[in-house]
Amino acid sequence: MNADVIVIGSGISGLTTAALLAKAGRKVVVLERHGRPGGAIKRFTRQGIPFDIGFHYTGCLGDGEILRALWKYLDVLPRISLLPFPSDGCDCLHMKESGKIVRAFFDRDLLQCELERVFPDELPGIKGYLQRVEEICSTVPFYNTDLPLTPFLRGFSRPDGGLATFLSSLTDDEDLQSALASPSFLYGVPPEAASLAVHAMVAYSYFSGAYSIDGGGQAIVDAFLSVLNTTGAQVLCGRDVRSIIVKNGHVTGVDTGEEEIRASDVVFTGHPSGVLNMVPDEIFRPAYRHRLRDLKNTGSMFVVFGAVEYSEKVRELTWVNRYSVPGGLNIMDVNREHPEESTLLLTAPGLRDKDFALSEATSGVILMRAADWNEAAPFDQGRGPRRSPAYREWKDEAAAKLIEKAEQLWDDIGKIRLLAAGTPLTFRDELAAPMGAVYGPQHSLDQHNPGARTRLPGLWLSGQGTLMTGVMGSSLAGLVTAGEMNDLEFLWQEVKKCL
Ligand SMILES: Cc1cc2nc3c(=O)[nH]c(=O)nc-3n(C[C@H](O)[C@H](O)[C@H](O)COP(=O)(O)OP(=O)(O)OC[C@H]3O[C@@H](n4cnc5c(N)ncnc54)[C@H](O)[C@@H]3O)c2cc1C
Repeated sequence: MNADVIVIGSGISGLTTAALLAKAGRKVVVLERHGRPGGAIKRFTRQGIPFDIGFHYTGCLGDGEILRALWKYLDVLPRISLLPFPSDGCDCLHMKESGKIVRAFFDRDLLQCELERVFPDELPGIKGYLQRVEEICSTVPFYNTDLPLTPFLRGFSRPDGGLATFLSSLTDDEDLQSALASPSFLYGVPPEAASLAVHAMVAYSYFSGAYSIDGGGQAIVDAFLSVLNTTGAQVLCGRDVRSIIVKNGHVTGVDTGEEEIRASDVVFTGHPSGVLNMVPDEIFRPAYRHRLRDLKNTGSMFVVFGAVEYSEKVRELTWVNRYSVPGGLNIMDVNREHPEESTLLLTAPGLRDKDFALSEATSGVILMRAADWNEAAPFDQGRGPRRSPAYREWKDEAAAKLIEKAEQLWDDIGKIRLLAAGTPLTFRDELAAPMGAVYGPQHSLDQHNPGARTRLPGLWLSGQGTLMTGVMGSSLAGLVTAGEMNDLEFLWQEVKKCL
């Protein structure tokens, strides 16, 4: 088989890169090792209840915002139905130690009012935070779309100071520090290691609204598949790319172990360190190999997919995500002895589906907590059904503790019945992410993430490990990679016509 471009990985970044290149006239083949496309954002069902894994909500889908423009440009938008959170929708932060509740609204002014209401003695710190986030984002082309993209990308790794230092300079109030640091949960870097610039970019994306999609992440995947189908691009699943073929210093295709597929360009969208096993050692200089191999990773998670009886209180979860967070800057810390005491999120994205009423006797809820690789590492033998009984015992026990904790914290939603659980081993195997790093490599203060270009002509990187994490970050990573492969500023101008 021949193609112009092979995209390895069918997550949101692979689908975006593929759709952009196909629109530009290239013959594209997407290869996915799993049996279904979609990477982290695909859905699964248990007992008829749909569960999202890696997509609960995103920002930047409002009028004039960049993700909306990109999806319009690609013709994805008419194929999906956006579900904007209403104005009283929020992340509801329950402060573990003080019992305070902060409603982190997805609207900059409402957020400021709420913070001022809960922390009336902290007005300068609150204003200082919001202003700095806005200042930083005014220099980011994805938010200030009048700016060209290239100079920003070339200076992207420039740190703008650390998040922890910044927050500590604004306030000593540990609950306020925690509330302001809470977006860290969405990119997986502890505030001590987090760059203020990256934090600002994630936090700011929710200042003008949060959005879900009818049908969850699967609806996004299906819309991309439909677009790719119209362009003649192919998405082939069950194809685990083992090696990238290099001849005379240039990529010529890939080998899946069962077949060779030829192409002059290959885009790898998995964890960037994954390419090291796919090319001969001498292809990259030792410094680049070390850089990819030693990338520091985000933490992992333990996730419970459960069922609760539908009630008025459960209905409130449709637009309110409940968090339990420790005070101070410990939001990403895993309590080693009692991991269920770490930051906890209760959410129910399936409730937002327009057809939810069809199955409303029971609804799906998702419980997520930060997890340490070492919790699961002792059970790292076999895969899937071949995992040991000890692993299943540990997983069930950890899930039961998490459920017990959630039922204590939020006793108004009733009993949670365990249907499935995801552990660091699950995420390691599902996402091909070292140590189950849910957001791939850290985008942090002292880490220089790789860009789209590699030193091997014809080999490109994309995905959450390059530009940014999240559905928005990974989509924009796809835009940057496709742009770098053709003409970045031209593509940027074309996408902006859809703003
Ligand atoms: C539990 C969880 C909750 C999240 N919640 C949100 C949220 O609410 N909002 C949000 O914006 N983001 C969220 N995210 C983050 C978001 O899902 C990811 O940042 C994004 O989906 C990453 O997309 P990607 O394409 O870069 O990577 P992936 O989706 O991981 O795709 C990479 C693909 O490459 C494939 N692959 C790797 N190696 C090979 C190979 N050798 N051959 C073939 N295929 C290969 C993998 O199988 C995978 O399908 C969440 C993530 C997790 C895990």
